[in-house]
Amino acid sequence: MKNYRPTHECGVFAVFGHPDAAVLTYYGLYALQHRGQESAGIVTASGPNTPFLRHVNMGLVSQVFSNSDLDRLKGTRAVGHVRYSTSGSSNLVNAQPFVVNTARGQIAIAHNGNLVNASLLRDELEEQGSIFQTSVDSEVILHLLAQPASPEGVFSALRKVHGAFSLVLMSEREVIGVRDPFGFRPLAIGKLDGAWVLSSETCAFDLIHAEFVRDVEPGEVVIIDENGIRSEWPFSAERKAFCIFEYVYFARPDSIISDINVARVRTEMGRELARLHPVEADVVVPVPDSGNYAALGMAEELNIPYRHAFVRNHYIGRTFLQPSQLIRDFTVRVKLNLIKEAVEGKRVVVVDDSIVRGTTARARVVNLREAGAKEVHMRISCPPHRHSCFYGIDFPDPEKLLANQMTLDQIRDYLGCDSIGYLDVPSMVRATGQKENQFCLACFNADYPVAVDPNLDKHVMERRSNRPNLLGSAPVSPSLFSQRP
Ligand code: SF4
Repeated sequence: MKNYRPTHECGVFAVFGHPDAAVLTYYGLYALQHRGQESAGIVTASGPNTPFLRHVNMGLVSQVFSNSDLDRLKGTRAVGHVRYSTSGSSNLVNAQPFVVNTARGQIAIAHNGNLVNASLLRDELEEQGSIFQTSVDSEVILHLLAQPASPEGVFSALRKVHGAFSLVLMSEREVIGVRDPFGFRPLAIGKLDGAWVLSSETCAFDLIHAEFVRDVEPGEVVIIDENGIRSEWPFSAERKAFCIFEYVYFARPDSIISDINVARVRTEMGRELARLHPVEADVVVPVPDSGNYAALGMAEELNIPYRHAFVRNHYIGRTFLQPSQLIRDFTVRVKLNLIKEAVEGKRVVVVDDSIVRGTTARARVVNLREAGAKEVHMRISCPPHRHSCFYGIDFPDPEKLLANQMTLDQIRDYLGCDSIGYLDVPSMVRATGQKENQFCLACFNADYPVAVDPNLDKHVMERRSNRPNLLGSAPVSPSLFSQRP
């Protein structure tokens, strides 16, 4: 069985008003690499009436862009994207940012999230004559934006899409950031030498020495042009539903979301976990890297030594071969190996951020037993995952989620540990310092903030034909919010 980790969804970055927009975006995407490793892309623009320049390819940011690629991407504005495919297949035609020529001029778009009504909208648009170039949900937004121009048309297009979307858009005059009214995915505003930057996470600002200004608020559209930055609020007010799993696992620990550092939240989750499921033990061991901070909080709260017993190999390539039957646990060991003397003869608390299918957690327990651990107590810094995510996180189907199939006692026996303890929803939320009604918790409690289209087939886009994404010469228009002259 495949070892399974929930996968990141995407990262977006944008610059307005800097002569090195492409290089800044390159480094911004570098900092957001954890949010997507399948493809990367940058689109730049110099000013009105000049064609957008685009470079996208499959692979990591460091593999996709050479110095000459960045030299070619001239301009003072840029949007960039790193992708993991939660909708549409993993190939070059689906790599973002996308660019289209419309009645409003050229538009580039980069999207983080997942739309829940994309297939319905796509069917409607195709009936009206739209021809889709890719198989991803993000292209639906572009086709809606391309419809007859009026300033209100942009907002009515955005109001038609439902689900999770943090977007960066570039028109011939503006860079625009959009966060859906529920605020599922993060999006932050920064400033650098008079230029504006937008990023999925603030860790990208640190890398380029930009100053973090604030989050884009749920439901806010920020429009950046020569006159500065302004906000519009085109959506009706909704309850907030930030994805709490960003705090648990996805976001980088050095990022700040809703004014709270992610590492601090994870450490506090570990403290809550220790209070909820205390255990007498000799050592607390994290499963690196996302279990590190929760394990630290747990060790501090229990006053037990914290040891990095698992050593991670950071250089696993994507082409890693599947092992033969003879060496079944090779996949697990090649990523993480144990320092035997750190656990031998000891009562070990092992802390991870989540259990999805259970294959990896089970292998960790086997590793610890083989290394001579006297007892193994598994602690998980979020509640049991029992339900699907329709908002951009790639969990397997519910019948493959361990906690959906087994009781806690059965999970303990399946994993082969002496005890198991998960964080519960109130403790997890308390660790964030925020209120429960600020979060999406649907993969834990099935309370879906945005109604999911009953006909939603997560893979419907995958089956669509893939055609080349063409970047042609452009009829120009000065602003996304004005009609063509
Ligand atoms: S369902 Fe879970 S993973 Fe998906 S957005 Fe909600 S909290 Fe995040």
